[in-house]
Amino acid sequence: MVKQSLVLILNCGSSSLKGAVLNTKNGDLLLSCLAEKLGNEDAVITIKKDIAARRSWHGTEEDTIDYQTAHEVHQTHLQQTRDHEEAVAVLMAELKAYGLYDYVKAVGHRVVHGGEKFAESAVITPAIMKELDACVGLAPLHNPANILGIQAAQHAFPELKHVAVFDTAFHQTMPSHAYRYAIPAEYYEKHGVRRYGFHGTSYRYVAQEAGRVLNRDSNRLALVIAHLGNGASISAVLNGKSQDTSMGLTPLEGLVMGTRSGDIDPSLFSFLSENFAMSVEQTTNMLNRQSGLLGLSGLSNDCRTLEAAAKEGHAGATLALEVFAYRLAKYIGAMTVACGRLDALVFTGGIGENSVGMRHRVLKHLAVLGLYEDAAANQATVGGKAGIISLADKPVVAAVIPTNEELMIAQDAARLSGLV
Ligand code: ADP
Repeated sequence: MVKQSLVLILNCGSSSLKGAVLNTKNGDLLLSCLAEKLGNEDAVITIKKDIAARRSWHGTEEDTIDYQTAHEVHQTHLQQTRDHEEAVAVLMAELKAYGLYDYVKAVGHRVVHGGEKFAESAVITPAIMKELDACVGLAPLHNPANILGIQAAQHAFPELKHVAVFDTAFHQTMPSHAYRYAIPAEYYEKHGVRRYGFHGTSYRYVAQEAGRVLNRDSNRLALVIAHLGNGASISAVLNGKSQDTSMGLTPLEGLVMGTRSGDIDPSLFSFLSENFAMSVEQTTNMLNRQSGLLGLSGLSNDCRTLEAAAKEGHAGATLALEVFAYRLAKYIGAMTVACGRLDALVFTGGIGENSVGMRHRVLKHLAVLGLYEDAAANQATVGGKAGIISLADKPVVAAVIPTNEELMIAQDAARLSGLV
């Protein structure tokens, strides 16, 4: 039996590293890992093996590893440098022991910010590394960690091609009237201050899947896609191309999120400074970490927790969910304008895929756009299912399509490495 090539994908934060090994043919995840608290004494890595997925990839007859369970999870404390380099080394040892290492044929790296340099994924060369360095100023919290991850993985897999997949790339098709801020032109021309947008890998995947779910050509659809997770954004995608999106220079702009405020009056900075002596750093931190659903409710950033509390009569939780839904509905109107028409509204991300209540709250605002909830279909479409949740005889479709950013990254890495 010929075993399929595997792709390793890595997603590094400043103190974390997420890794996964995928079979690109069917998207099966054979092994995943999460390293946390990197740079700290108590840095730890958790490895999760999907034995069933490995078995279906390997075939049974020649497999020397005989596990009795379908899944195995174990945690190891990092002992040496406790950084990205050590996390990758531990992952590599696991892959060897588990018989996967020799079959990993490409590495895909999630990179947050590609600036205007990258409109698509790219094989990482020394010249590309220089360009990634040049984008650090645009995402000082994220890109340095992505670069550390790339270097550690290049060290561990020197023979393989490494591919960078950017969160911003999909939105490079936005027209200038969508991406420019109305501030003096020199900030854009000299310093690249403009709207970039994020979650691009998710939008690209969901826009492709929409063709299948709606039984239409995905290159002839006007879609508004709402990616609602802890971070949340929305994008107008016309004929497969991003026209506009709600996040901007940074992920803070746009929708209400778990702990981020989304849009605010920018004068809040001077107001809080003058009245409460709050520094730029304090206000930035407040807007990113203490706002959104958490700030409004005073309870939690987690949609599930808020829905349970709202049912018990918690006024803050109810308000938070209502503000989230209303802001989202307003943006759906705006993104419809960006598309010029609307064939379908698509929900994705943890909240979009699972929260029947949030989809209900949003759709209640949207009869004006020709969107009407099918309550039974809405109720039934949860837990990773795709489906249509609007009434059949109405002009516009509302659908749920689970996202799969990992598969998109793995497929890009496989394609650009010449595996397919
Ligand atoms: P991240 O942006 O961190 O990847 P996710 O896409 O995993 O986030 O989404 C996390 C959000 O999804 C949380 O607010 C969580 O409460 C919400 N969520 C997950 N399952 C449900 C559910 N069954 N009902 C309501 N909300 C849910």
